[in-house]
Amino acid sequence: MTALTGHEAQHGVRNAELGRTPNSRVDERQNEHDAYYMQGLVDEGLGRNSTYGIYSVKNGYNWNLVDSYADESTKIWCANGGNCK
Ligand SMILES: [Zn+2]
Repeated sequence: MTALTGHEAQHGVRNAELGRTPNSRVDERQNEHDAYYMQGLVDEGLGRNSTYGIYSVKNGYNWNLVDSYADESTKIWCANGGNCK
């Protein structure tokens, strides 16, 4: 599994659990935050640095980066017709 596969898999698991895709901006933001964290967990599990800098063996998680990636993905989701009331 690649870290990016982990990200998308996390969305798939969550959507399946809830039986829906995100239904608000806050919901989507949480969804993305979880998915980026999952990306980092894959890299942590494999003992390597994340391609996107989310996790590094030396410094652990970069939560500021997780937050800014989550913000960016939420913007894209909303701009592409996602449910963002
Ligand atoms: Zn995502």
